[in-house]
Amino acid sequence: MTEALYLKDSYLKEFEATVIKVEGKLIVLNQTAFYPTSGGQPHDTGIIIADKEYRVVDVRKKEGDIVHYVDSDGLKEGIKIKGVIDWERRYKHMRMHTSAHVISKVIYDAIGALCSGNEISQDETRMDFSVPISREQFEVFAKSANDVLAKDLLLKAQFLPREEAMKIPEVCRLFGTTVPNIPVLRILSIGDFDTEADGGTHVKSTKEVGQIVISGYENKGKERKRIYWKLS
Ligand SMILES: [Zn+2]
Repeated sequence: MTEALYLKDSYLKEFEATVIKVEGKLIVLNQTAFYPTSGGQPHDTGIIIADKEYRVVDVRKKEGDIVHYVDSDGLKEGIKIKGVIDWERRYKHMRMHTSAHVISKVIYDAIGALCSGNEISQDETRMDFSVPISREQFEVFAKSANDVLAKDLLLKAQFLPREEAMKIPEVCRLFGTTVPNIPVLRILSIGDFDTEADGGTHVKSTKEVGQIVISGYENKGKERKRIYWKLS
């Protein structure tokens, strides 16, 4: 199992690690700060420095490991490397991820709707709902979310035993009914606004996010609405 350093420190930009598996251009490290595609947040990119620089082009979760795909052969099992993530890309994902949590909580509190899918990118994020919500309603929700973001709410991640975590009301709101079957859950709190199980990378304060600007709306049927936003 790779130790996921980004779960404890999402601001970690460089780290040292040991290569524990190599299969062609697929690399597993004993620990990593590279975020793998999951929870709607895209993977990090960056470089692995050893005898030369290897570009990390993709990062995924695979059978309990975090696997890095690099652009050339040459890394060997057992060697020590330095990893450097592309910070600009990651930081945009962090701001977007936090904004997604805030707006989804605003919508949940207002009408009890859970998001049914979301995809974060550096410049634009989309979120789907399987209940009827008009564009005008989304504009109102975005305004409420922006009021929350403008406050200097601090984000904190802590690890709790599953039993203890499950006592927090709605702690697995975003997971719906399928709570991951793991002994320790990572609980993310956004000031006293939200507390939820989450494995993503987030900013330290809501002030870092900026403001949500709705950039698109798609009516994909009576019960499928999609909203897009950017951050200013
Ligand atoms: Zn999340």
